[in-house]
Amino acid sequence: MAEHMDPEEFRRAGYAVVDWVADYWRTLDQRPVVPRDPPGTVTAALPATPPAHGEPVAAMLADLDEIIVPRVTHWQHPGFFGYFPANTSGPSVLADLVSSGLGAQGMLWATNPAGTELETVVLDWLVELMDLPARFRSTGAGGGVIQDSASSATLVATLAALHRASGGRWREAGVDRRYRAYTSTHGHSSIEKAARIAGLGGQGVRTIEVDPETQAMRPAALRAAIEADLANGEVPAIVVATIGTTSTTAVDPLPEIGVICAEYGIWLHVDAAYAGAAAVCPELRWSHAGVEHADSYCFDPHKWLLTGFDCDAFWVADRGELIEALTVMPEFLRNAASESGAVIDYRDWQVPLGRRFRALKLWFVLRWYGVEGLRAHLRSGIALADRFAARVRADDRFALAAPHPFSLVTFRLRAGDEASAALLARVNDSGQVHLTHTRVNGRYTLRLAVGAPLTGPEHVDRAWDLLSAAATDILAGVTSTGGSARANTPPG
Ligand SMILES: *Cc1c(COP(=O)(O)O)cnc(C)c1O
Repeated sequence: MAEHMDPEEFRRAGYAVVDWVADYWRTLDQRPVVPRDPPGTVTAALPATPPAHGEPVAAMLADLDEIIVPRVTHWQHPGFFGYFPANTSGPSVLADLVSSGLGAQGMLWATNPAGTELETVVLDWLVELMDLPARFRSTGAGGGVIQDSASSATLVATLAALHRASGGRWREAGVDRRYRAYTSTHGHSSIEKAARIAGLGGQGVRTIEVDPETQAMRPAALRAAIEADLANGEVPAIVVATIGTTSTTAVDPLPEIGVICAEYGIWLHVDAAYAGAAAVCPELRWSHAGVEHADSYCFDPHKWLLTGFDCDAFWVADRGELIEALTVMPEFLRNAASESGAVIDYRDWQVPLGRRFRALKLWFVLRWYGVEGLRAHLRSGIALADRFAARVRADDRFALAAPHPFSLVTFRLRAGDEASAALLARVNDSGQVHLTHTRVNGRYTLRLAVGAPLTGPEHVDRAWDLLSAAATDILAGVTSTGGSARANTPPG
């Protein structure tokens, strides 16, 4: 017979787990940012079968320390500068604990009334806080919903766009080969994935060239691609514009793109996964100019707004189109509240049926930090990025690769791709920092993204010192071996 954990046991073990997390955060700086054991290390340390009899939580905590945590990539580490931040915070973790404790399934208003209404309220708060278009509010024609990720938001937007472009036929008949999606060459990979899942095929995505200086989409090239497709009998269904591309945080020119979409009746989805958070700061709202043209918009509080993964905030200007595209009403879900039309059933706004109570963590975060606290976090990230960029700019061995309006700096060694790749490998080998890379105008480019709550000036300075010292070694290697072609095999 199963032994459930009774509330008193849970209380004791729960305190131990909270202590464990607090100690983890307090000592994070002492760990290497990224594990170095080869693949299979964790697998080899684990038994091949589950235990026949239950074990105490202390045994699991011991194995966490021994086996698991040494092989975790520490995203909350102050030296983590890879990808984009996926920051979390105390209030977010505590709210997730509450959400898990409630274990409520919010697929319908009726299955979690408070969860549904809190979600609507916090997303309306964010419209206000970020000065997003009034039509995104639930009190108008639109509304917001929490998706698990920006990828899901783009998929849902693509489905709604197909619904519109097909005059509703898509819902019953599916898509034929004629529908097209557009994004810039720096549009996120999730856009192609959404197109494939939605049935357009990867070939259905047109990638529009960017300006080589700003890395932002060229509106004239978008118009030309749309015209060429129309001339071919194809149907432009959706344009995905980006505020803050993943490679360089370029901002696509929404005012021009919005006008083009309106002219041709194309759905405009704005993917602001990382940089959307910037709109919390009035001085950064320039990045959202033209957002009033969007049919849908999303950003990830789980990237730069201190809310633990997963939490993507997604809004539509007209919820009717989205709901029509996605709703299916089986008998077992019929209920009086839904039939009254007076409630929101968020299952109709997403792909899965079931949903967690994620609004809680956003609510805890917004209340713990307050608007000014969130702004202070964002501003500190931008100031640290500026501090780092100033070092790069002042060193003529280095070049900045693109503008850095937010908390990401992209840069490379002037000596070339191989030297830059060697530089990344070398600084990451130090275990003290972790950076990732991309390609900009075809050239190997390092990315330093600031955003972990524990990152301060000393960590950014350490990153620069490591980079500068490694550059010295690598460039010495280039000279002594007589050419940049050997720069990826520095001595030592
Ligand atoms: C990170 C990112 C995504 C994907 O985010 P998920 O929430 O992990 O799906 C999409 N678009 C952009 C621009 C991103 O930076």
